[in-house]
Amino acid sequence: MSENSTSSTPVINFGAGPAKLPEEVLQEVQRELLYYGTTNISVMEMSHRSADYAVINDGTQQAVRDLLNIPDNYKILFMQGGGTGLFAAVPLNLMSETGCADYIVTGSWSAKAAKEAMKYGKVNMVVPKTDSYVDIPEQNTWILNPNASYVYYCANETVHGVEFPFIPDTQGIPLVADMSSNILSQPLDVSKFGVIFAGAQKNIGPAGVTLVIVREDLLGKAAVTCPTVLDFTVMAKDNSLHNTPPTFLIYVMGLVFKWIKRNGGAEGMKRMAKEKSGIIYDLISSSNNFYYCPVKSAVCSRMNIPFRIGGPNGNDDLEKEFLSGAQKLGMLQLKGHRSVGGIRASLYNAITVDNTKALAAYMKEFYQTHKK
Ligand SMILES: *Cc1c(COP(=O)(O)O)cnc(C)c1O
Repeated sequence: MSENSTSSTPVINFGAGPAKLPEEVLQEVQRELLYYGTTNISVMEMSHRSADYAVINDGTQQAVRDLLNIPDNYKILFMQGGGTGLFAAVPLNLMSETGCADYIVTGSWSAKAAKEAMKYGKVNMVVPKTDSYVDIPEQNTWILNPNASYVYYCANETVHGVEFPFIPDTQGIPLVADMSSNILSQPLDVSKFGVIFAGAQKNIGPAGVTLVIVREDLLGKAAVTCPTVLDFTVMAKDNSLHNTPPTFLIYVMGLVFKWIKRNGGAEGMKRMAKEKSGIIYDLISSSNNFYYCPVKSAVCSRMNIPFRIGGPNGNDDLEKEFLSGAQKLGMLQLKGHRSVGGIRASLYNAITVDNTKALAAYMKEFYQTHKK
């Protein structure tokens, strides 16, 4: 359970995003909120052109470079517009050479990205259309277009709870990944990617800053109509300081990166994610379908676990009762996404093993009370 200094009620925030931040980080922010370092002003009040801010900007970049072993031929950008902004930025930066791209749609976020890309060029759907996103079709059934400018996928579908357990093989075509909800939950071979992006508000910080990692040879290809603030090449050249960046959010994200480092780095986050998601999935699978997660076990997300209560279609009354009981115990934001209903437990980096055990204990008790 976590407790902060302005609230006497211990709560656990299982929200899907904006999500729980490590308590230590919030306390650091609180301590430094009015006077940052020796500056006598808040980070929020600091010029983005100042030497003090340069330390924050460069330090945050270096921290994520170290955590993910990002090779030297990749630029790290801090952008705005969220994950959704990147749905447009990706085609605007990468599609102009061939006018087409491949999209692997495995849930609502990749579906939205594909729809946005259609504004800018031709989109090839790599896997058959479905609206019950519970699986990832075998790679040998995919239809890749050899002329595509890039292949796009969402590494973890936050709403549907579908996570890629592998990195797609694109036969040399640049791979673009939306990792908004699983970035830094495990080590990553960045060299396999052309572009990785992540809105910070799930796993690495507050809403309003988007981390972008882009291979240098993909720069310089933006469409002439690409808005300047979405242009990777401009942002890379100006070290994410072309215009005023979300300075405070970049600072907080930097603190989260330091926290991840103190807690075992990407490898430490991976161990925790495996343990936490294992606790909940084990409980679901031993509940005789009282708890029901529709996602195929091979592609079950370690980050977001959507499930129904009372069978595959869910029982409204039971689900309502579960949520209100959880709320009373201080377990917040467990309601499933409005498009799928039911319950969703998000187990991002800041959720501890003990937090997860508390949820599991409640689920177990609820099951004992309500099973037929
Ligand atoms: C939350 C989310 C987004 C959208 O992020 P916004 O910042 O709201 O635009 C995109 N992709 C994934 C995987 C997400 O989880």
